[in-house]
Amino acid sequence: MASEEISKVLDARKDPMGWAIADYYKNSVAGRLRVFSSMFDEDDMSVEGLFRTYEEMPEIEQVALEKSSGRILDVGAGSGCHSLALQEMGKEVCAIDISPRSVEVMKLSGVKDARLVNLYNPDFDEKFDTILMLMNGTGIVGTLDNMPCFFQSIDRLLANGGQVLVDSSDLIYLYENEDGSVDIDLNGRYYGEVDFQMQYKNMKGEAFDWLYVDFETLKLYAEENGFAAELVAQGEHYDYLARLKRTER
Ligand code: SAH
Repeated sequence: MASEEISKVLDARKDPMGWAIADYYKNSVAGRLRVFSSMFDEDDMSVEGLFRTYEEMPEIEQVALEKSSGRILDVGAGSGCHSLALQEMGKEVCAIDISPRSVEVMKLSGVKDARLVNLYNPDFDEKFDTILMLMNGTGIVGTLDNMPCFFQSIDRLLANGGQVLVDSSDLIYLYENEDGSVDIDLNGRYYGEVDFQMQYKNMKGEAFDWLYVDFETLKLYAEENGFAAELVAQGEHYDYLARLKRTER
């Protein structure tokens, strides 16, 4: 990743998810948030789903919120649904996102500390006991090549003894045949590396890389980068919650 890319936030004119979130916040309805990828058919993302309450969250997210302690960083916080739930539990949370509209909505809806910040910005240099990354939180890593950069950032932000709670899905099920064999090209790119582009009304965002990673691969990269990965919970469909902690040095 080029260094000027690292600290970037979205241009407000290219922030489709943020505008969808703002519309939903104002009007309790939003238009279609369309998702394009070279790997899948066009799909819609539920904007209402981005405003889920604790009760509406999948169990692995509830577990992550319960296990969040100390000063918490909600990375890629979106509408702020997890930050609001954490505040209700009496916990201290800072929410960051690169979407200007999403950060505005978070401020309006009562997230006490919401900031327009990129996780990879080296100038963002505070310490947190828990770093929370939910709704395929590994997506923000982008590609496997970016893993060292990701671990550098969380190393910068984690207090001593701190933890990262991150969820992802193993996309292997997309390539499985009925007989259990798998069609993947071992010489091609990793099967969980996906490209996406979003559109809301007439606003199209830039295309971006989004990483889905199976637990074993995450664990290998963690170990290469001075971290240990532990499987905390498994979801209903190839999804899981992992905890990353620095290996004692
Ligand atoms: N965590 C929220 C939103 C998930 S969508 C939820 O579970 O509902 C992913 C979010 O991550 C988007 O709002 C996007 O703007 C944000 N994001 C993507 N890259 C980021 C980065 N490098 N730093 C901070 N936020 C990022």
